[in-house]
Amino acid sequence: MDTIQKLNEEPVFWNNFKVHIGLRRLGECLEPFIDEEITVFHDGMKQQCGSARCEKKCEFSNWYSTCNQPIPPFDCEVCTAWRDAILTHHSNQNGKVMWTNSKPHLWSQDKWQVAKVYMSNGHKNHNSLGDFDIAALLCLMNQCKHFEKFKLRGLCEEVSFVRNSIMHSPNYQLKKKDLDNYMKRIRDLCKVLAKHHPNFGSLSREIDEIQHLDLILFARDNQAQNKEELEDKLVAALEANRKAKKTEDLLRRKVKKLEKTLSERDEEIKTLRFSCKEKLKAVKQEVIDDIGTMVVKIGKKVLQEFLQEAIKVILAKIEKFLGERAQPKISVGVSDYVQVVLPDWSCCWNS
Ligand SMILES: [Zn+2]
Repeated sequence: MDTIQKLNEEPVFWNNFKVHIGLRRLGECLEPFIDEEITVFHDGMKQQCGSARCEKKCEFSNWYSTCNQPIPPFDCEVCTAWRDAILTHHSNQNGKVMWTNSKPHLWSQDKWQVAKVYMSNGHKNHNSLGDFDIAALLCLMNQCKHFEKFKLRGLCEEVSFVRNSIMHSPNYQLKKKDLDNYMKRIRDLCKVLAKHHPNFGSLSREIDEIQHLDLILFARDNQAQNKEELEDKLVAALEANRKAKKTEDLLRRKVKKLEKTLSERDEEIKTLRFSCKEKLKAVKQEVIDDIGTMVVKIGKKVLQEFLQEAIKVILAKIEKFLGERAQPKISVGVSDYVQVVLPDWSCCWNS
């Protein structure tokens, strides 16, 4: 039974299924509520338009809604009066009104023929409450002004969105976050309806329970000899499923813990990297400063040596010059001239 095992291991499949159950429960509670309200609405319409029957058997067989003729014409006073009253109570008069869902000649006699005008397309052959799906009921509450007093419009649209999303979900799967979101939308509608009808009293709590159900698919074992044996097998299967889920939860928690540790380490590495970068920057600046100082010192030393050499050359030239012009009887040392004429160079380069 690989298929069953596979389905039991796919929460996304059960999430989708849970929304179906939630919508089904909502539909079951909506039916008696809508039956009562449409009766009240139709009775009010009868007081306004009268209970007279249509004698001309008016039909829509030769009429289709067009831009030039969005409202069906009648050469029958009964159907004309009902048509106008029905349109007055439509919340989307300028949009597409589903006249062709209904049989006009039955408007004064059959409340569902009136109600169908407020539904979506496709209910021409549906004639009683049990024929309408939840999408039709939500559309009816959304488009018939009789329901405005319950302040449901936005909420009905929200649940219609849920229904459409579920019907078109790929592979019948639904993510956990979508399950939570969809069930909340259903609960929100239930909470408001609970103020107006006892049917919805505990529905919100029930929807919450459905959302958190621990479901398992179990194939009936034909080899089970009796009810007790079948029950034993079911209990064993539930236990096995519970253990598998426990292991899965444990693993999920471990993965989460690891992710947290990794994230913390990542932060530490980031801080360390920043600190190293700053230190490196400081060391670099220190080295640049030292090199600068050294260059200055070397420069000074080179300059001193250069000056010493230059002075030596100048002195030699002076000595030579003086030597050539010196009186032979007068003996004056070059150093004496230097001491008289030149400043004390030795002080300059020795300091
Ligand atoms: Zn008629």
